[in-house]
Amino acid sequence: MSELAPEVAQIRDLLTTGQRFLLSSHARPDGDSLGSQLALGEALDQLGKEVRIVNADPAPDLYRFLPNVSRIEVSTSLELTEADGIVVLECGTLARTGVEGLAPYTVVNIDHHAGNTMFGAINWHDASACACAELVCELIDALGAELTPSMATHLYVAILTDTGSFRHANITERTFEICRRIAATGVEPAAIAAQVYNNGSLGRLRLTGMLLDRMELEDDHRIAVLTLRDEMLHASGCADDDLEGIVNLPLAVRDVRAVVFLKHTTDGIRVSLRSKDTIDVRAVAVEYGGGGHRNAAGLTLTDTTAEARAALLGQVGAAVANADGAPPSD
Ligand code: 5GP
Ligand code: MN
Repeated sequence: MSELAPEVAQIRDLLTTGQRFLLSSHARPDGDSLGSQLALGEALDQLGKEVRIVNADPAPDLYRFLPNVSRIEVSTSLELTEADGIVVLECGTLARTGVEGLAPYTVVNIDHHAGNTMFGAINWHDASACACAELVCELIDALGAELTPSMATHLYVAILTDTGSFRHANITERTFEICRRIAATGVEPAAIAAQVYNNGSLGRLRLTGMLLDRMELEDDHRIAVLTLRDEMLHASGCADDDLEGIVNLPLAVRDVRAVVFLKHTTDGIRVSLRSKDTIDVRAVAVEYGGGGHRNAAGLTLTDTTAEARAALLGQVGAAVANADGAPPSD
């Protein structure tokens, strides 16, 4: 086995010498945050540690099939007297957890988002990982824990969803090596994919239809804009949870280079951005205090006026033009 990076060895040492740990991840958890936490939690269980997993928001329905998902506690403020370490997974900043009260503890930061602020006492940041779960798999090995079928399921869901079903950048030999080991535990990738992709509600399909029906195309069809209206949720009987993944659909169109998904909330407009190739939507999100990856990022637009919306679309257009050159003038 190749030698561990110093930060990985430090994390291993902290986790093996301490006894009580808390794991957290980002608010509105996704497949990678949940899978990474649950797999690491089980590895620490194997070592006889006391483990709590605390997130600001519950797991979306889509991920309710994950083994042991019910062990995740939902709280935005931590009541904790003692912990030997807090492992924060999948977060570019500590604030992304949405959980108050973590800072006084020994925080371990394990993440793959570009722009991570290195907020931990120990920081393991690897933006070349396709999912945080790739790092967690390496940590499981470093801890000497066994990769069980349930952990394999956690890691597979994380990788499958964070790579957009093996389509995004950062898919490497390492990704497939982990997937090989996952399959070797006996879990069936096709069965997991069916849980994630073929198990939605009829309402979700109807909602998808409504959103696509009212999709706007800007910039010579290079930018697709999806706007969620409350009446769509009512008419389809869907909850916010059901939205996961819909933002990616317009990318199927050859001419579409970026997608903007807008959702009005009490805090402002939640915006999800997606892009193709070298178009950097993360840079746009960062301008608004958000973040993410080059091709998948998010932000909250506090100014909900039409002007602010137009300015955001202008920024996305500039990111597209920056990568692709100006649109054809005819
Ligand atoms: P989504 O559009 O699926 O909510 O998020 C896409 C990516 O951007 C994910 O990696 C997510 O963690 C990140 N992201 C979404 N919203 C925010 C935000 O408000 N702040 C930061 N830092 N990252 C975000
Ligand atoms: Mn991730």
